[in-house]
Amino acid sequence: MVDHNQKDERYKARQQKVKESVDAKVNAAQIEKGLFLIITGNGKGKSTSGFGTVARAVGHGLRCGVGQFIKGTWDCGERNLLEQHDVTFAVMATGFTWETQNKEADKQAAQTTWAECKKMLADEHYDLVLLDEMTYMVNYGYIELDDVLTAISQRPAHQSVIITGRAAHRDLIEVADTVSEVRNIKHAFESGIKARKGVDW
Ligand code: ATP
Ligand code: MG
Repeated sequence: MVDHNQKDERYKARQQKVKESVDAKVNAAQIEKGLFLIITGNGKGKSTSGFGTVARAVGHGLRCGVGQFIKGTWDCGERNLLEQHDVTFAVMATGFTWETQNKEADKQAAQTTWAECKKMLADEHYDLVLLDEMTYMVNYGYIELDDVLTAISQRPAHQSVIITGRAAHRDLIEVADTVSEVRNIKHAFESGIKARKGVDW
């Protein structure tokens, strides 16, 4: 019995310490501003995370815009849903680079989409802007890195931005507030399983 009480006491003391440490960190975080987030890495879950955040923001009545930089031939469940909730979409009108095999056309399309995204990044109306698969556009040289860095640094103070895609440029990572890497442990595709509606797009 005594033993049990001692365990309880020790547990309580430990939890109290954890609480104090968490409270101290919460109190220390006093800066309020729009965030710049990057979700990168080779695993599955980058775009779904970005769109999940847009859904979260929409659920709070916030105003969101999305730039989609690589558009597949299939439709996009998130777009079908979010357009019904007044989320603005700027979509690159080409397919995957390896399908179009036309670098000039891809670059043109990327720059047209980027011009639309830049307008969102300069517009106080938007609380959150998702730039899905943007990392590739910078890495291919379709969009100037400096132009992206400038647009992000000059955006309205309350506005958050999310960039997704593999191999995020180190200069983007450096200025971002939160960067997460999704690691590939395994993917169904490697076992010959087809991409699935509602799970993969
Ligand atoms: P999702 O949109 O499902 O969150 P993602 O944005 O992290 O995925 P992308 O590189 O944009 O990943 O790939 C989009 C498509 O490729 C999705 O259908 C996804 O399931 C698939 N995919 C993602 N990671 C891998 C992988 N490591 N191997 C094979 N296919 C993948
Ligand atoms: Mg993606």
